[in-house]
Amino acid sequence: RAKSAGGNRFEFADPESDARAITRHGLTTALPTALDRGEFFIEYQPLVHLEDGRVHGAEALVRWLHPQHGVLGPDRFIPLAEHTGLIVPLGRWVLEESVQQARAWQEKHDRTGPLRINVNLSPCQLTHPGLVSDTVEILAEAGLEPDALCLEVTESALIGADDALLKPLRRLAEMGVDIALDDFGTGYSNLANLRRLPVRTLKLDRSFTQSMQRFPADPVDLKIVEGIVSLAHSLDLAVTVEGVETGAQAEQLRILGCDTAQGWYYARPGPPDRLHELALMDATG
Ligand code: C2E
Ligand code: MG
Ligand code: MG
Ligand code: MG
Repeated sequence: RAKSAGGNRFEFADPESDARAITRHGLTTALPTALDRGEFFIEYQPLVHLEDGRVHGAEALVRWLHPQHGVLGPDRFIPLAEHTGLIVPLGRWVLEESVQQARAWQEKHDRTGPLRINVNLSPCQLTHPGLVSDTVEILAEAGLEPDALCLEVTESALIGADDALLKPLRRLAEMGVDIALDDFGTGYSNLANLRRLPVRTLKLDRSFTQSMQRFPADPVDLKIVEGIVSLAHSLDLAVTVEGVETGAQAEQLRILGCDTAQGWYYARPGPPDRLHELALMDATG
């Protein structure tokens, strides 16, 4: 970090940030081969109905098993993949893998209401011309109904989105794919703008969930969540909450009318079989 004092500028070497820069460079060069070598894997985190705790589906969260650095979370490499363009093939791989997984769960399960799969989309994938055709192909190949798939796009990716950007999302929504606005409430978007977006689910940002941890919760936050939920429901949108870590949060968010939830309180992200077990557990009571 550089500090300036008076008119002079002093550069302080920061070994930690140097190490980070070196790792960043190393990771960036290793990314393309990592996909070919099969170093990425996906963990699944259940989404549950707040009303009764039943498993509704799961979100696919990508990880990188790096030969030297061990397991890296998406925050370490997704920005690099976006920067280098690898996010397009990586994102397609995540989609294909998770859609096939969702189909496999459905085949193992004999339950009412299918397990759904949520997959994150990067803004770069939205502008890539192959998005709609790839998705159609992947769903058809796996034999998964489009309405079992939910694509999560961050609110900030859609701020000021023009029609060209929204077109592929509209096409997917018309096919029955659910589009969710991820990290909702952090992007300063105009609420009236929601009507323009082909979105059926709002995924409330973790910061709201965190403020429900204090008891009594901040009355302003309570009012905000209450307002978002009632607006969402009046527009026929479902509300999911992320980052639920305690029963108290779950209870507060249930009372506020949120529909589904995700968080460590229910389960951490884990291997596909873990989700299968969880879903099976509540199918058998
Ligand atoms: P996100 O889509 O908002 O995913 C939720 C993040 O919250 C995940 O972090 C999840 O592990 C974490 N989380 C879940 N429950 C809790 C909880 O109770 N407490 C806390 N503190 N955290 C919780 P993760 O796996 O590190 O992913 C971070 C972000 O990386 C995701 O945020 C998403 O934006 C992005 N990401 C993950 N997989 C993909 C992918 O395949 N493609 C793209 N483009 N982005 C991805
Ligand atoms: Mg997400
Ligand atoms: Mg999120
Ligand atoms: Mg988030």
